[in-house]
Amino acid sequence: MENRIKLGVSACLLGENVRYDGGHELDRSIRDTLGGYVNFIPVCPEVECGMPVPREAIQLERDPESPRLVAIRSRKDMTKQMLDWAATRVRELESEGLCGYIFKSRSPSCGMKGVKVHNEKGIPVKKGVGLFAHAFIKRFPLLPTEDEDRLHDPIVREHFIESIFAIKRGDHV
Ligand code: SF4
Repeated sequence: MENRIKLGVSACLLGENVRYDGGHELDRSIRDTLGGYVNFIPVCPEVECGMPVPREAIQLERDPESPRLVAIRSRKDMTKQMLDWAATRVRELESEGLCGYIFKSRSPSCGMKGVKVHNEKGIPVKKGVGLFAHAFIKRFPLLPTEDEDRLHDPIVREHFIESIFAIKRGDHV
């Protein structure tokens, strides 16, 4: 088991009740099928950076290139809390020897592409990256990363699996 591939994963995809509403986003093809071959390192950025369960829903706002993370009802700005934690967490993950990461799609913390960013008028554009996903990809630009939506496509899934095995073999890092 010790020599198995290690993958980081958004914790809610494994069925952990860490979502803002106290629920999860279990993806059985990830937990049960892929989980037969890899060891997962689950991460929930919102809980790990200090937010409770349940909690207020949050969203990305303003500049899609450098968005703010804001609680929708209270308008509390959570950007610094998340970015400070993310900077520490990605350093910790260096020692895990990860071969890839599976992100929860569309999340303001975990989404790796096309996350809604709301402008001053509240109109969303799907151009953002979740704050933790952004910090992770910046720190590990060569690691294979995907989200669970895209992994439902058999071609994307096969390519992702080939890529994580290549990283494990040391073909490219
Ligand atoms: S999407 Fe990310 S931040 Fe949100 S519940 Fe899942 S792991 Fe936590």
